[in-house]
Amino acid sequence: MTTVKTEVLIIGAGPSGAVAAGILRQNHERQVMILERATFPRFSIGESLLPQSMAYIEEAGMLKAVVEHGFQHKNGAQFAWRDKFLAFDFRKKFSAGWGTTYQVDRASFDQILVNEALRQGADVQFEQEVLGIEYNAQSKTNTVRVRDLTSQAEYTVEADFVLDASGFARVLPHLLDLEVPSNFPVRQAIFTHVNDNISPALFDRNKILITVHPDFMDVWFWLIPFSNGRCSLGVVAERDFLAQYAGTPAEQLATLVSQTPSLATLLQNADYPIPVQTITGYSANVKSLVGDGYALLGNAGEFLDPVFSSGITIAMKSASLAANCINKHYAGEAVNWTVDFEETLRFGVDTFRIYVEAWYQGDFQAIIFNERDYNNDIQMMISSILAGYAWDKSNPLVAKAKQRLTALKALCVD
Ligand SMILES: Cc1cc2nc3c(=O)[nH]c(=O)nc-3n(C[C@H](O)[C@H](O)[C@H](O)COP(=O)(O)OP(=O)(O)OC[C@H]3O[C@@H](n4cnc5c(N)ncnc54)[C@H](O)[C@@H]3O)c2cc1C
Repeated sequence: MTTVKTEVLIIGAGPSGAVAAGILRQNHERQVMILERATFPRFSIGESLLPQSMAYIEEAGMLKAVVEHGFQHKNGAQFAWRDKFLAFDFRKKFSAGWGTTYQVDRASFDQILVNEALRQGADVQFEQEVLGIEYNAQSKTNTVRVRDLTSQAEYTVEADFVLDASGFARVLPHLLDLEVPSNFPVRQAIFTHVNDNISPALFDRNKILITVHPDFMDVWFWLIPFSNGRCSLGVVAERDFLAQYAGTPAEQLATLVSQTPSLATLLQNADYPIPVQTITGYSANVKSLVGDGYALLGNAGEFLDPVFSSGITIAMKSASLAANCINKHYAGEAVNWTVDFEETLRFGVDTFRIYVEAWYQGDFQAIIFNERDYNNDIQMMISSILAGYAWDKSNPLVAKAKQRLTALKALCVD
């Protein structure tokens, strides 16, 4: 069997894989190979970025290409429930850093990132499926078994480091028995793209719109405008809840939209040009994000929930942390992967988790839809979290997120 050698092997060319490759190729000239099972461009869900992710795109040297593409500008998030409405402007936030970002069709966005990784000298191979991995403790190398999907030939890649960026395929968690169940119930998303035909006066296209079902606080819709007159539309609910609704996913989506007057009004002239899709049981976790010669990036590690659009930000943060650990290693510096990668990453993921839990308990909605005009500082702190700054410990709503959210909710509902 043929054997190829590289310093770093990345499994998957989505945002976490491409950004890791970009950072590794910046100044340090690491040898990087990406193996991607699919051909690009390919559809992916996850289309609303958070401003925090721009820092990692910039770190990977990919900012110019992303900015110049002409994606839909994004500067905030809007929340609607019954007759209540609140907009957060990410430029008015507690944390320092980017206050704007983009809403992207992922086929184009992921293609741009992978083109940038190629431009920077990463060796990217498509239609290559990773099948197995073995670690040799003596030589401190991984031997990865791969199948070329065009010829069906198998070969091996020897690498000092393997970064698993395989998304929901979760290649290493499956191969190395790392899976642990998520604490979240099984939820399902039903989604599509629509030609929305919404009057500009009725909708700020620079913001994602999250609409809560009028009767069920844990059932919510996303409406993510693109720059081409389309929107991504989706609904999220527990799988068992959706099972009560008869019909195809398209019919279920239509019924739920029709039960939600503000959204139904916005979408009254929409047409549905592409098939409706579903994804179920996406929340996932692992025993550990690092092991001998490998680390798990993005969805291959832990995936929480789509509600705060945190997926790509977490994926890129994990890519940045792992690539910097590897760069330190080759620079001869000591690396503590548990502290510098796993614990650092998990801090922000755990912050988002607290907000996701507060969302499904209805506490977050109780805070933002309350009648009282809570103070501007608090709005800026919430805005920071919604903009992805979940690692900023100087934000009181990050540092002691749970206690302060509980206190805030008590203030809002008394
Ligand atoms: C319903 C829903 C809505 C979402 N909305 C948002 C949102 O608005 N904003 C946001 O930031 N996030 C969102 N997310 C999350 C977001 O989609 C992911 O977090 C993000 O795509 C993760 O990127 P990644 O690089 O980890 O993986 P991916 O983007 O999934 O890339 C993984 C790549 O690995 C490849 N691969 C898989 N198996 C193999 C193999 N064996 N060998 C080689 N290659 C392989 C795949 O083909 C794929 O190209 C949403 C998620 C869901 C479920």
